[in-house]
Amino acid sequence: MSNNTEDVAGTEKRSLHFIESIIEEDIRNGKNDARVHTRFPPEPNGYLHIGHAKSICLNFGLAEKYNGKCNLRFDDTNPEKEETEYVDSIMEDVKWLGFQWDKEPYYASDYFDRLYDWAVKLIRDGKAYVDDQPQEVISQQRGTPTRPGIESPFRNRTAEENLDLFERMKAGEFENGSRVLRAKIGMTSPNMHMRDPVLYRILNAEHHRTGNKWKIYPMYDYAHGQSDYLEGITHSLCTLEFEVHRPLYDWCLDQLIETSYRPRQIEFARLNLSYTVMSKRKLLELVKGNYVNGWDDPRMPTIAGLRRRGYTAAAIRTFADRIGVAKRDNVIDVGLLEFTVREDLNKITPRVMAVIDPILMVITNYPENQTEEIELVNNPEDAESGTRMLLFSKELFIERDDFMIDPPKKYFRLGPGREVRLKGAYVVKCESYDQDADGNVTTIYCTYDAETKSGTGSNQAKVKGTLHWVEANSAIDAEVRLYDRLFVDEDPAGHADKDPIEFLNPDSLKVVTNCKVEPLLANTKSGDKFQFQRIGYFCVDNDSTFSMPVFNRIVSLKDNWAKEIQK
Ligand code: ATP
Ligand code: MG
Repeated sequence: MSNNTEDVAGTEKRSLHFIESIIEEDIRNGKNDARVHTRFPPEPNGYLHIGHAKSICLNFGLAEKYNGKCNLRFDDTNPEKEETEYVDSIMEDVKWLGFQWDKEPYYASDYFDRLYDWAVKLIRDGKAYVDDQPQEVISQQRGTPTRPGIESPFRNRTAEENLDLFERMKAGEFENGSRVLRAKIGMTSPNMHMRDPVLYRILNAEHHRTGNKWKIYPMYDYAHGQSDYLEGITHSLCTLEFEVHRPLYDWCLDQLIETSYRPRQIEFARLNLSYTVMSKRKLLELVKGNYVNGWDDPRMPTIAGLRRRGYTAAAIRTFADRIGVAKRDNVIDVGLLEFTVREDLNKITPRVMAVIDPILMVITNYPENQTEEIELVNNPEDAESGTRMLLFSKELFIERDDFMIDPPKKYFRLGPGREVRLKGAYVVKCESYDQDADGNVTTIYCTYDAETKSGTGSNQAKVKGTLHWVEANSAIDAEVRLYDRLFVDEDPAGHADKDPIEFLNPDSLKVVTNCKVEPLLANTKSGDKFQFQRIGYFCVDNDSTFSMPVFNRIVSLKDNWAKEIQK
């Protein structure tokens, strides 16, 4: 945050981050014809999460900033875990975030023929060989960073023999895992990824796009750089764990490419969020184990989940911008994401009255059968949002916890003999209340003072509390789903001996079915967002199996982070 400053218009200005500096220098030097072409390369083995959103905003954002292009490339080199459902969700999520890829989406699998031909070239040039040893033996022979590895007994096969074997691997003659193609680089590099790394493996699995055509599949490290090259990528941005893979990325291109054009891999720190699990494998476990209701469960950090929860694309983009681009791994407080969402919703959401835990209030001196309309501002933050009329009568609902039989002194809500203002309407005074056999308050009886109507300027009584309310006969029923953080631990995936599942928040979802909301909310559509006054921000869910509207809590109104930041 330190290099972010806010200008008068509220847009954030900051100095160049290190990737922008590299790009600007490349442009000055006319490198790769001064083009900027990035790519976002998801593996279609799960739904995208907020970490991917950071990568998307970075890659597409740089292309926008430097008049370049950004490709969407499915890195589909592992047929065992990939599915078309994931491909579709990824496209939907990137578009929803507000980005458009160049041309059609690309697939690494489109390059399988080219990659195969290049592998043949490596073999011909004596730079790759087929190893017949099982994976465990290859791993054992790899050595340690301080101890050199052992050369495979198959390392010095002739090119002819290697070509023959590689072709037969391709033809499906051998068992899964019985042979691999390895680069012939050496077994002594301090970088373990450079010790004769595996380029191809045998995998008899159906691929979601190429079907059963291929029995061998390229490894990520071999496929990625060449795919970048084939697409004309200039800056290939990835997360820090790939830093140690970069020499191999460059080695492959060095062996295969003769042009002066060359993609460059640059690593940045991945986004880690507190109280959040951010690995597709772990998220898949949550889904498969039914700990959540699918990939788009509003508690999930997936883009689909955040969207359903009611987070806006604009807020996620602002968040990605705010956290910046770092070279060192760090953990971002999830409160900053929530703060950014709240800040965006504050500007764009209409205010409405909704009572989540209703209790009846009768205004004893208000005329029977009389109603009147109260004018309320839709959004004080948006001068163009206008006002609306809301019915008021003798019977209202207020929030149960806005009343206490024996309130402490500093409680500015309602109690016997106390006065409060009903938002936009009158000051009322509690005269008495009813209780059921268990002592629960069932009805509150008040009197009102007709001279205290809001906005009339006359007799504006000084009361400290203002309560939200809905008129009892016109209010409609609603279901409200109160979502909270999914995990109670700050770093749920950070315990070597414990599964994140152990840190699930048992109260991450509370469903409340007897809420009363103002009548306007009968006509909403999924995705509509509101501020329930004094409660929080809510979004209409896409669950269409309900006869009454269902609202997801996006975020509560207040958070300590906000105070921290505004100090
Ligand atoms: P996961 O760790 O969740 O399984 P991944 O790295 O395997 O993610 P990919 O589909 O390979 O998922 O990721 C696509 C792109 O998104 C890659 O360039 C990857 O570096 C980037 N990415 C993944 N996770 C994050 C993150 N937390 N922060 C920033 N970028 C990320
Ligand atoms: Mg990956």
